[in-house]
Amino acid sequence: MNILVYIETFEGTVRRSALELLSYANDLKTLKKGIITALTGPEADDGTISCLARYGADKILVLKGAGKYYSNLSLKAESIRQAALNEGSEIVLFTGNVAGRSLAPLVAAKLKAGMVPGIYSLPKNLEPFTINKKVFSGKAIATVTVHTPAKVLILLPNSFALKENPVPEVKEDLDPGITEPATTTFTGIRILDTVRTNDQIRLTEAGIVVSGGRGLKSRENWRYVEELAGLLGGATACSRPAYDEGWCPHDGYVGQTGKVISPNVYLALGISGAVQHLAGISSSRLIVAINKDPDAPIFKSADYGIIGDIQEVMPRLIEAVKNYRSAPGSTP
Ligand SMILES: Cc1cc2nc3c(=O)[nH]c(=O)nc-3n(C[C@H](O)[C@H](O)[C@H](O)COP(=O)(O)OP(=O)(O)OC[C@H]3O[C@@H](n4cnc5c(N)ncnc54)[C@H](O)[C@@H]3O)c2cc1C
Repeated sequence: MNILVYIETFEGTVRRSALELLSYANDLKTLKKGIITALTGPEADDGTISCLARYGADKILVLKGAGKYYSNLSLKAESIRQAALNEGSEIVLFTGNVAGRSLAPLVAAKLKAGMVPGIYSLPKNLEPFTINKKVFSGKAIATVTVHTPAKVLILLPNSFALKENPVPEVKEDLDPGITEPATTTFTGIRILDTVRTNDQIRLTEAGIVVSGGRGLKSRENWRYVEELAGLLGGATACSRPAYDEGWCPHDGYVGQTGKVISPNVYLALGISGAVQHLAGISSSRLIVAINKDPDAPIFKSADYGIIGDIQEVMPRLIEAVKNYRSAPGSTP
């Protein structure tokens, strides 16, 4: 079963989510033998190539064409279609972030492939291809069967552990030779520029997320969220009221109408746990809630809870983390 993995890079580094795709592809390969091909962009350097080979990419295709295929979604999708056909890929993998969710349907349409988003596990069966997906913001599981020869799967970020699986480096250039926009599926979307909004760890890929809600009461208290996230090496996030108040930028807003994240640890400070908020965080491996109301709904979803006032709990918690960090022999 040949597998094509779409590799997203950012500022010269391979995104963690792309390495998760490769780890998943290697697990798929244990079910049925095949070649894993990683398709990456023109900025791929030697470091990118060796990283991809370390995570088990049998072949690395580097898309040539002066970046033009990477600034136009339709051309990029056409390049991926060509790569999938050339490599005889039965499965094409994308990650469930904005880039992956924009590209995957275009590629699926071009390949006449069945597409399944929300993947968090290996297929239950290969013939017919049957797989579980998360639906209703992770509240339920649907089992779907895909009957098309080609399949496009979108994996939930942070659902798969990274596994190195070193193979020899095999690199090839791919020039799709497309000169005009592929008008049949042209979406009208062109990426003109990419601007970094902050220097923080990317929210959708963060292992630890510290999130604040209305219970923080003021912009000044947002410092608790930032300080704890900084100490723990995590990203910051927020509920809708905290975003509405301007305490946190929009790219930190999580929930049904915000980002959907699945970190290892989600700390909710002064967040009630409304169903729309939980829709974005319920796939977190561990939820820790701090709330002064013992009946706050968040405690039903939390693995650990602290009932108390943010103003009292946070300075003590931050102090405790600092002490732990400075203790001899503490783990980073
Ligand atoms: C269509 C729709 C879509 C929505 N989408 C989203 C979404 O994507 N994301 C989202 O977050 N919301 C969304 N909402 C809003 C959602 O319904 C809730 O209103 C929101 O999540 C509540 O945010 P909160 O928990 O910060 O505030 P609140 O519900 O007001 O909760 C504040 C919590 O802080 C606690 N608290 C107060 N003071 C303290 C203190 N001193 N110490 C400790 N705890 C304290 C309170 O006990 C309370 O539990 C949506 C709503 C609608 C209608």
